[in-house]
Amino acid sequence: MQFKIPPTRESGDIMSQVMQQVRRTTYLQDEIHISDAHCHLDLFEDPKRAIADAISAGVNLMITSGGSRKGNAATTAIANNGNVFGVVGIDPSSLPTDSAAIDEIVALIKGNQNLVGIGEIGLDAKEFPHTPLDKQAEAFVRQISIANDLDVPIVVHSRGAINEAMAIVEKHCLTRAMFHFFEGTEDDALRMAKLGNVISIPPRESSRRKRVINAIDITNIVTETDAPVAGKTPSDVKGVIEFVASTKKMEFGEVAERVSENIRSFFHI
Ligand SMILES: [Zn+2]
Repeated sequence: MQFKIPPTRESGDIMSQVMQQVRRTTYLQDEIHISDAHCHLDLFEDPKRAIADAISAGVNLMITSGGSRKGNAATTAIANNGNVFGVVGIDPSSLPTDSAAIDEIVALIKGNQNLVGIGEIGLDAKEFPHTPLDKQAEAFVRQISIANDLDVPIVVHSRGAINEAMAIVEKHCLTRAMFHFFEGTEDDALRMAKLGNVISIPPRESSRRKRVINAIDITNIVTETDAPVAGKTPSDVKGVIEFVASTKKMEFGEVAERVSENIRSFFHI
């Protein structure tokens, strides 16, 4: 069979390269690419329905995120078709109960081609201060080293701890990091973008986020809903794309396209 497709950033064994090419062919058949870089489909009452609704609203790529042992199992089950890929990890809120589940991440990712990274992982000094930050940092670094070993990217959760999170990424992360629901300043964004990391813009508009969007190149920007936590559904990503487009004075379609490429290139999809 002849594949008339542009070259992609390939990784992994022959089988995963073939899978990547097949996905790429399907991808090129879609007219417009609208992608949600971060959501939690397992938190919907009916994840299958949520996916079908998102696809009929034009969202053709979603990265659904785990964060707990239960969430990782659900994410693994959900990330099973060409539109939905998953990341698994243990987030700060789940550390008190699920820290032993960090040991399960390698097998989960090796066992499922649709799991494309580790997340969400990181530091939370705001919502979960009951776990001391140094304990959170220890689990964060441990999961980063698993990501380095597997050569997969990480999805970073940071609340009230952006400086600490950035320092850890700078020091330990040999792979790529996506800062989900980015909370930093434009200087922080530039500092991370320079290392090739990605800044994810959530459905919360603010003047600080406008400055962040203006400060960095579109190459380092992705859009997310964090649905159902922040956005109601993945289709709310269209509003985020509009926000980026109006801030950067670009066309909606161009931003949608660039963001989709960024997500695909970042996760090697
Ligand atoms: Zn999230």
